[in-house]
Amino acid sequence: MTPAPQHLLSVSRSVSQASPLLVSPTRQRIVFCDFDGTITQQDTFIDVANRLVPDVWGPLQEQMYAFDITLHEAVSRMVAAIESRHYPDIVAGAKTYPLREGFGEFVSFLQDQTIPLVVVSGGLQDVVASALEQYRPGIEAIHAAQIDDSGSHLRIHCEFESETEIVAKARVMDCYVPDGGQAHTHLDAVLIGDSLTDLELALQVPLVFARDRLAQYLRERDRAYIPWETFADVQAYLSQRWAVESTEQGEFKSVEISS
Ligand SMILES: [Mg+2]
Repeated sequence: MTPAPQHLLSVSRSVSQASPLLVSPTRQRIVFCDFDGTITQQDTFIDVANRLVPDVWGPLQEQMYAFDITLHEAVSRMVAAIESRHYPDIVAGAKTYPLREGFGEFVSFLQDQTIPLVVVSGGLQDVVASALEQYRPGIEAIHAAQIDDSGSHLRIHCEFESETEIVAKARVMDCYVPDGGQAHTHLDAVLIGDSLTDLELALQVPLVFARDRLAQYLRERDRAYIPWETFADVQAYLSQRWAVESTEQGEFKSVEISS
């Protein structure tokens, strides 16, 4: 099993320091958020593929979205078709993609309540980190794929790789569960996403904000989700939901005290 990353310590610390009225007595609140097509308006990873290796990526993505080949195979073959000399330009282009409305305010909203925001991306770590540099203090961790550009063509890998995915987001969540526990009993997890890379994790968390292909996949599986378009939508929903939960928790406490 992959050893727990260093940031786990800070997750536990930040949650335990939050106001008791804002944290479930039994489950830690945590928000997992996709990057491409979620934080960014456009999918930067697919944009790179379409620009640099369209002939390779075109057929691969059709097969991938139809579940004929795995995400792992599609992404590995696409990345392996890109010459390493392009990598500096790919990373440099990260800051040119517009972010979705309300993201900065949403980061501050979570920071104010000391609820960890974890970015989980099937894209490239260098690209995600570069694009989110100004928000980095408000982000607990970024988990994405690593690139090896030492050869003639790029190679992709990740510590959270599974048989079917380069970045298995459900495996990332496991790192935030206390030792020996299970996600559903220890985490009050929220996922915000838009596509296929979010699906496995979406099937495991209690509250999912979904748009685009992710919403379609969840409808096909009869799974509940909250539709969204901007981070203001997400913030408004969570703000109301958590306020209600806090009130209920407060009422419960007052009953305890008076009895
Ligand atoms: Mg996405």
